[in-house]
Amino acid sequence: MDRLWTPWRYRYVSSAHPEGADLKGGCIFCDKAASSDDRDNYIVLRAERNFLILNLYPYTTGHLMVVPYEHIATLAGAPQETLEEMMRLTARAEKTLRQLYGPDGLNIGMNVGESAGAGIAGHIHMHVLPRWIGDGSFMTTVAETRVLPETLDTTYERVKAALSAA
Ligand SMILES: [Zn+2]
Repeated sequence: MDRLWTPWRYRYVSSAHPEGADLKGGCIFCDKAASSDDRDNYIVLRAERNFLILNLYPYTTGHLMVVPYEHIATLAGAPQETLEEMMRLTARAEKTLRQLYGPDGLNIGMNVGESAGAGIAGHIHMHVLPRWIGDGSFMTTVAETRVLPETLDTTYERVKAALSAA
């Protein structure tokens, strides 16, 4: 279990700005949400209350995150409508990733708070990532072609196209 959940915790913002989450104006999710350059930020979809964004440090190809626009630190602190849309988008991401990448399974979940491994502790986000049998061991030994067979730009194009066609 630990192995399934630890990968993404240091991968997302290990080189971005882990402590910045609680500083005003220092949250990268808030910054990206406010920016209009979705391509540069790898935002594949904007819904009413949440957006879908590629993880810059994907554990596997297609690693997406569903993020509310609002800077919320806990699920309980989120408006009902935001949570509902978040779950709908998670399901949509699941469907899209299955169509595009044909994974054996998916990891879907969130780390809430720093001690739980959240890279950006002050702003909740749902991870959705495809998994293949054996990808974990590949990742720890040879973090190369098997796990990351395409660039983020390619993933961006593919996921964005698939989402708009859905
Ligand atoms: Zn934020």
